[in-house]
Amino acid sequence: MLKRLNDTHNIKCRAKESGEHVRIYADSPKDVRELTKYLDNEKKEYYVIPDRAERPIKVVIKGLPPTTDPERIKNELTSLGFRVDKVNPMRKFKTRQPLHMFQVHLLKNEKVDEIYKLEHLFYIIVTVEKYVNKNIPQCFKCQGWHHGASLCKMNPKCVICAGPHESRDCPNKNKENFATKCANCGGNHTASYRGCPRFPKIKPKTNPILPGKSFASVVNHKQNPTITSQITQSMTEPPKTWNSLFTGNAHNQTPAATPNISDFSDLMSLIGEVRKIFDGIKDVKALTAKMQSTENIVDKLMFLSEALRGNPAVTV
Ligand SMILES: [Zn+2]
Ligand SMILES: [Zn+2]
Ligand SMILES: [Zn+2]
Repeated sequence: MLKRLNDTHNIKCRAKESGEHVRIYADSPKDVRELTKYLDNEKKEYYVIPDRAERPIKVVIKGLPPTTDPERIKNELTSLGFRVDKVNPMRKFKTRQPLHMFQVHLLKNEKVDEIYKLEHLFYIIVTVEKYVNKNIPQCFKCQGWHHGASLCKMNPKCVICAGPHESRDCPNKNKENFATKCANCGGNHTASYRGCPRFPKIKPKTNPILPGKSFASVVNHKQNPTITSQITQSMTEPPKTWNSLFTGNAHNQTPAATPNISDFSDLMSLIGEVRKIFDGIKDVKALTAKMQSTENIVDKLMFLSEALRGNPAVTV
């Protein structure tokens, strides 16, 4: 097929095996257009990953007062010769407290790399670092990663049951005790679950801070059948944030059913910590038996800490 593309159709491209898919790299935007047209005609399934070179560079400018008007930052950077796409104030992940940091998206030009040399902005000393994004986009149509549904021509797969239908049309979404199935690995979790063994590896560098508008994508992938079915009922866009899940157009929700967002974030963090604890326990069964042997909370915790330290046992 590649030879045919290059020779007969004059579409300049190369290919590489990538898991069960083949990744095709086109030389120019024109080749991409020709290629997608060809694949459409051939009724092939495909999706387009946006070209890295055309994506904006994301940096964090540190040291500016949180009250600084993002528009002012934008204007100042523009006057210095940068092509500014967006300026987002950053907040602390858990408390939502504004930070002395702004995430800036710059479009590429010959000056763009000089952003890292920026030492002050309106006479305020600043430092500039690369922004590390922990959020890997997931397509809500085919459940694959690194692209959005607007660029996706794959057959739909359901986020809940992996069936060949759009998630919002899932016939299983209102069934009780329905077992979820992952469209990516076949496991019994939703396809958006971050613990999925097929979930793309994130670079080790972690940054607990997210820009103001992208709240808690860390929690939105946790498996929760109740919430997942709500997503699919009201969703026309992928669930980027809890905010969009719980505000959005969730018309059939009673206010009482709406969790407090910050409580939820705290709860998910707690669950994360508890999970770490359980990862350290070798013999869960023995520990459970011991913990059930007493009603005293402190004793229960003692058993738990003993199990974590790997001590043989305290006598019951
Ligand atoms: Zn897709
Ligand atoms: Zn389904
Ligand atoms: Zn999975």
